[in-house]
Amino acid sequence: MSHELKARLALEKQGFRFTHSLGQNFLLNGQVVDRIAQEAQVEPGDNILEIGPGAGVLTAALLDRGAKVLALELDKGLEEVLAQVAPAAQVVFQDALKADIAGLTRQAFGGAPFRVVANLPYYITADILTRLTRLKTPPHSILVMVQKEAAGRIMAAPGEKRYCLLAATVQNYGAPRVAFQVGPEAFTPPPHVMSVLLDIERHAAPPAQARDEETFRKVMAACFAMRRKTLVNNLCAAFGLDRGAAAGLVEGCGLDAHVRGEALTLEQMARVADALTTEA
Ligand code: SAM
Repeated sequence: MSHELKARLALEKQGFRFTHSLGQNFLLNGQVVDRIAQEAQVEPGDNILEIGPGAGVLTAALLDRGAKVLALELDKGLEEVLAQVAPAAQVVFQDALKADIAGLTRQAFGGAPFRVVANLPYYITADILTRLTRLKTPPHSILVMVQKEAAGRIMAAPGEKRYCLLAATVQNYGAPRVAFQVGPEAFTPPPHVMSVLLDIERHAAPPAQARDEETFRKVMAACFAMRRKTLVNNLCAAFGLDRGAAAGLVEGCGLDAHVRGEALTLEQMARVADALTTEA
């Protein structure tokens, strides 16, 4: 019996009701799931963290290819279904936004490298990508189904209208690219949006690094805090600087005092962070 059929029967037997607020648009369609598993290039013995396994069809496809799968699922109502469809997966019923991902992956994979593969619940896209890319030992790659519009923002370049804190955060971790697009009809129930599979390959080293990570993150956030304001204004608000000091610091970094934060490259943000660290 196919994983798709197994999942459909198990969901029906359970009388499962999809919860819209949990982003429960399942990919039961075997063909699409196989394309994702293919794109993941899973080798036997690979360690995969899956966020939101749902009914487990993707989980089962990853297991079929020999992966070891740790899955974080919020909905305990899927326990029986997952036990039937993907019995070899280690499923932890916790909120992926609160779970100790570093500890759980260390425990499951013994400290070995792991990758993330998931059809994400779209409402957690920004928060989970931020969490994953900022782990002390981040995943080697992240392959996730996201809303098409979110992918556009994540891939935007400095100075573009859609460039945002999430784009800067993700791009300092890796290089995002769209693997393929998926229409609503592939999901059960169908969402009202187009989706894409986003492949984020981790950089060998982050393109920008500052002396103090905390200050760097604060500068990144300040760059996008009030988009119509200049970087100087945003730095004043975020770091309690007076205008003259902030303008001097920005110019000292080789930037125009009227530049807007969202026009900065990652490297320029790191330079500002280092200047602030030296000031302190
Ligand atoms: N991977 C499955 C598939 O492709 O059919 C399900 C994907 S569905 C888009 C998202 C899944 O994430 C649901 O099973 C939902 O219950 C789960 N979920 C929602 N919020 C979550 C959270 N904060 N942490 C972990 N799982 C969550």
